Amino acid sequence: MSKTSRKQFFITSFSWMASLFFLEGGLGLVNKLSADKKNSTPIPGDAHPVLESDPTAKALGFHQDAKDTDFNLYPERKEPTAKNQFCKHCAQYTKINEGWGKCNIITSGIVSSNGWCSAWSKRS
Ligand code: SF4
Repeated sequence: MSKTSRKQFFITSFSWMASLFFLEGGLGLVNKLSADKKNSTPIPGDAHPVLESDPTAKALGFHQDAKDTDFNLYPERKEPTAKNQFCKHCAQYTKINEGWGKCNIITSGIVSSNGWCSAWSKRS
């Protein structure tokens, strides 16, 4: 490998790494801002809200705002008996602050107290 092509290789590699770094940071920021719109309680510390595109979250129909639930897929969530089904009332939820908590099932971030997924079960 010549000196020029090695130099070019390092420059290209560095550019790709920098791009990926900023892209990931940008997506994290977008995710945080999007979650902020749905939940005005400050996100604690450096915690990150669960992405609704997270495979587990997606499989369970999770949304940070229960109003965004796909009622075609989960019509039972629309029933009057389900009106209090929110993460904050779920057995899997551990409160961090008024707006956010940890879920024992979707663990890639924190969930909004007003979220919902199909694994919801009543806290006893
Ligand atoms: S399991 Fe419970 S706390 Fe976890 S996302 Fe579903 S409804 Fe929310």
